[in-house]
Amino acid sequence: MGHYKTNLRDVEFNLFEVFDRQRVFGTAPFSELDSETVREILRAVERLATGPIAASYAEADRHPPVFDPAEGSVAVPKCFAESYRTWMDSGYYLLDLAPEFGGQGAPPSLRWAVTEMVQGANPAVRMFSMGPWFAQLLARIGTTEQQRFAELAIAGEWASTMVLTEADAGSDVGAGRTKAIAQPDGTWHIEGVKRFISGAEHDLADNIFHFVLARPEGAVGGTKGLSMFLVPKYLVDLETGRLGARNGVYATNLEKKMGLKASPTCELVFGANHPAIGYLVGDVHEGIKQMFLVMENARMSVGTKAVGALSTGYLNALGYAKSRAQGSDMTLRSDKTAPKVAIIRHPDVRRSLMTQKAYAEGLRALIMLAASYQDEIETARHNHRDASDISSVNDLLLPVIKAFSSERAYELLSMESLQNLGGSGFLQDYPLEQYVRDTKIDSLYEGTTGIQGIDLFFRKIDRDNGTALNLVLAEVERTSAAGGGRLDAERTQLDRAVADVRSIVDALRRWSTESAERPESIYKVGLNTSRLLMCLGDLLVGWLLVRQAEVALAALDRGDVAENFYLGKVGAARFFCATVLPRLAADAAIVLNTSTELMELPDGAF
Ligand SMILES: Cc1cc2nc3c(=O)[nH]c(=O)nc-3n(C[C@H](O)[C@H](O)[C@H](O)COP(=O)(O)OP(=O)(O)OC[C@H]3O[C@@H](n4cnc5c(N)ncnc54)[C@H](O)[C@@H]3O)c2cc1C
Repeated sequence: MGHYKTNLRDVEFNLFEVFDRQRVFGTAPFSELDSETVREILRAVERLATGPIAASYAEADRHPPVFDPAEGSVAVPKCFAESYRTWMDSGYYLLDLAPEFGGQGAPPSLRWAVTEMVQGANPAVRMFSMGPWFAQLLARIGTTEQQRFAELAIAGEWASTMVLTEADAGSDVGAGRTKAIAQPDGTWHIEGVKRFISGAEHDLADNIFHFVLARPEGAVGGTKGLSMFLVPKYLVDLETGRLGARNGVYATNLEKKMGLKASPTCELVFGANHPAIGYLVGDVHEGIKQMFLVMENARMSVGTKAVGALSTGYLNALGYAKSRAQGSDMTLRSDKTAPKVAIIRHPDVRRSLMTQKAYAEGLRALIMLAASYQDEIETARHNHRDASDISSVNDLLLPVIKAFSSERAYELLSMESLQNLGGSGFLQDYPLEQYVRDTKIDSLYEGTTGIQGIDLFFRKIDRDNGTALNLVLAEVERTSAAGGGRLDAERTQLDRAVADVRSIVDALRRWSTESAERPESIYKVGLNTSRLLMCLGDLLVGWLLVRQAEVALAALDRGDVAENFYLGKVGAARFFCATVLPRLAADAAIVLNTSTELMELPDGAF
């Protein structure tokens, strides 16, 4: 058995029982894929994920890609190349593409369900396979020549990168100094040094094309002055499709990392020895706006990766807890002759397992919620209907999905899943320690949690006047207001938690307004944006677990056979509402008591 354990039953529960995706499957614009086909695809991807894709997960970690400084090349281990090839040969990566680009026009809900499995099995496989999706985006926003380039990139399965970070421009993307110098033939020469670029160099594809943020000479500072350039590793003859000269972009270092080692993270130098030719994407200077199209997908992807890891971490811990016998039942603790029990019988282990289950399944539901909104957005666009409300809610959810999922996944994998295995969890005989190492990156790249919290409050809540947030909170209140007896205590907890989140948001918005008169008031906002993000995440998970419990209770009433599955859903909702949601009241109290004292303390006092 490989390391990876899927939870397809839960994926299908979300798709078909909670979010009613059978309503959109098989209907335009997703006519190609009816519910039965979706189920078949999920099963086929599950077989690949648990088999050949997962197969190289540990080995590629122990024997990661190797850098040759003389050539500036990176060799990926053979075992990993086989996993990657299997995925590409399966053709399921084409689910991410629209029919006009050779894809199947799959609904986002199916795409993210598939993505969770591939990433849970071997996240770097998915990262390497994003080239065709990048090419599709290039075709949509690029010039006619770039559309031809995209066609070749899709056909040739070329790899891609997103290139923003520099030594002095990390979270502060606008500080980037990489230059773009206009050439008489309409191309650009890119000059600069980027760092931490995933997949910047490797031997898995014939060509690699980089989406690079650079500043045209004379452009203004900050993010506004950045433009996005297409910079291929090999120049391309667009007529014949043949690869031409090596472009002047080279990897000059491969980072040694804590985890996610199969994905090479490189320093990338542009134009050091010969020109790095770049093409202005779409022939317009809208770099940051264009890069956001990549980042939105990447942020959803990072959240999904974290959930995939937490889910398999939990299921591995669960398997261990059912088979490992230690100690006797607590009620017999003074009886020396009492039989040994599996550790799942110990209350503290049970608490730990249920915490993991509730978050793994609640976070998956959060991904599926956003994915369902994305289905609706694509359907509305297809039918020329306005989808701005759903789009703004989807935008609001993205920083929560990205940062809350990655924080909770890392925290639970290390504090709970690994812990459940005792000392064995610390060994490389089990996958837990690698899950912990491989998941830490999720709270860092694509914007750290701190940056996501700031984005959530300032861009998604305050600038929007709280409109999208109110739409979501109104949905939560609909659930909490519904009567029905058996979940009354949970609905009450939910109702209180909504009030707590509202009071946090109200306070932050008040201080934000106040800062026009008293600039230091903004510090009170900044001291609480991460807290707000985590509280909103907990509220949404609690809400979705209650929604799932409603569906489960209805199924149990019908006498449905999958009784344990549904009992688990009700149990998870009850546990979460009783043990997690009450903490939001303390968070709200902490927020309301915020002062600027911390900012006044001299740096030397730290
Ligand atoms: C394995 C790996 C792969 C990566 N892949 C890519 C890639 O493919 N392409 C790419 O362009 N980049 C990539 N990155 C870079 C990644 O996106 C950055 O590391 C990340 O955005 C943080 O930037 P930084 O490391 O410079 O940290 P810094 O920006 O220096 O941040 C340090 C700390 O300060 C906090 N902080 C910074 N500014 C603020 C602020 N204004 N308010 C509050 N807190 C703040 C941050 O939250 C963080 O905790 C990758 C990084 C790694 C490690």
